[in-house]
Amino acid sequence: MKKVTLMLAAVVAACTLTACGGDSAKGNAITFGTNPEFPPFEYVTSNGVIGEFDGIDMAIAKKIGEDNGMEVKMESMEFDSLLVALQNGQIDAVIAGMTATDERRETVDFSTPYYTATQVMIVKEDSDITTAADMADKKICVIQGYTGEVCVQDMGYTYEAFKKGTEAIMELVNGKCDVVVLDSATAQKYVSDNEGLKIVEDASAFESEEYAIAVQKGNTELLNKINASVEKMLADGTINDLAVQYTEAATAE
Ligand code: GLN
Repeated sequence: MKKVTLMLAAVVAACTLTACGGDSAKGNAITFGTNPEFPPFEYVTSNGVIGEFDGIDMAIAKKIGEDNGMEVKMESMEFDSLLVALQNGQIDAVIAGMTATDERRETVDFSTPYYTATQVMIVKEDSDITTAADMADKKICVIQGYTGEVCVQDMGYTYEAFKKGTEAIMELVNGKCDVVVLDSATAQKYVSDNEGLKIVEDASAFESEEYAIAVQKGNTELLNKINASVEKMLADGTINDLAVQYTEAATAE
């Protein structure tokens, strides 16, 4: 009886050390966290590249798994919760169109950047907003925890934050807000999906941002594997092809 209990304890200990925790990437599986409300990078569909998940990031994650002989698991959660889940070891990496910012670098490490974006303003077609400064006396909507929120905050404007991009867009469509500040490619998708909206850019107000994959601070073993794969996909044009493919699919719908 004693022996059985001891053996069980050993199994439990081995389990917490390896496959069941955030260290699972050391084995042959990797668990990514994402927030699948950010087309064309991640969204839910009936048959995606990883289960129900599809998009540029999902295709990249799948290839990282293939390159390293690792099974890819995808966990869906709020954008706000991703970095906490990563630090807790609930997931091994975050792939979520996430901008590598200095603030986030304080708590996690980022891969080689794989995509360059910028914040843009989505407005009604008849809007008189032509620059970021024109937002001063307007009702601004952002999505909670996105870099767009930080930009608007830094400009000193008041705003309303929504949990999802679709919620902010609905406010705009219904005339309850004047402008949504959001990442360029995702903004493009919403503008092509909803009539009467347009994009206004202001390169002098919004700096370019680089999307990268986040891992726990100091997890160089996993970071090296991810980087080797990402750098290969950048060099051979895979990521560029995916971006074109998913952007076209998104706007053609
Ligand atoms: N790029 C933005 C950020 O990092 C938005 C990302 C997202 O919603 N998936 O905050």
